[in-house]
Amino acid sequence: MVGSSGTYPAPGRPASGYLIEQGNTRVWCDAGPGTFISMPVDTDLIDAVVVSHQHPDHCSDLMAAFHAWKYRPNPRDPVPLYAPQPVWDRLCEFLQQEPSSFAFTAVGSGDEVEIGGLGVTFVEMDHSVPTVGSRWDGNGRTLFFTGDTGPAGEWRRAATDVDVMLSEASYQGETEDKAYSHHLTAAEAGSIAREVGAGALVLTHIPPYLDPSVSVAEAEREFDRPVRLAVPGTSFDV
Ligand SMILES: [Zn+2]
Ligand SMILES: [Zn+2]
Repeated sequence: MVGSSGTYPAPGRPASGYLIEQGNTRVWCDAGPGTFISMPVDTDLIDAVVVSHQHPDHCSDLMAAFHAWKYRPNPRDPVPLYAPQPVWDRLCEFLQQEPSSFAFTAVGSGDEVEIGGLGVTFVEMDHSVPTVGSRWDGNGRTLFFTGDTGPAGEWRRAATDVDVMLSEASYQGETEDKAYSHHLTAAEAGSIAREVGAGALVLTHIPPYLDPSVSVAEAEREFDRPVRLAVPGTSFDV
């Protein structure tokens, strides 16, 4: 877990970002603010980057990586970047150039890529901009990461029977009280994890102004398997 804060970072808690490792393969999944500098390994060891969507709390550190990888005596060779097309368009627009540190591939619903020992399948999520959820298969184990999403859409199928579901939980309390329908409450994350038969649930994207232990308690009321928090600096085996 590199970062888990919802919507914006807090001290010691970068926004959305994870290092997914399988054997010698290392993938940086979501590049929220603070995640590049908090990476637990040398960032030159990152084999590929996957970004769920264009909101800054998920992609703004692509700019930090571009500067770090390009503007030094020996720039890195381009690193594969998989994301919905608008992520790339906005990055190019902001930097006023195509960032040569990345080899970009646009991904959307149904696309599958192989990154070293990991197979990644992308599905469209229920969010206000094009957003991909990702199913990660490696060594017979599976992880599903929701990115940002509401409960609608067909994406649950891709999460069926995963060993670990890494789910956003932007809200607490009742579904009706949500300010914005394209996010989940902790209880919704719990009930979806139960519905898809996940082995365990890890909650993330909890904003700094909420008490995460309340989110865990609310999810546990819906899901009777292990519920954990994504805590920066910690890791778990899928
Ligand atoms: Zn977000
Ligand atoms: Zn978002």
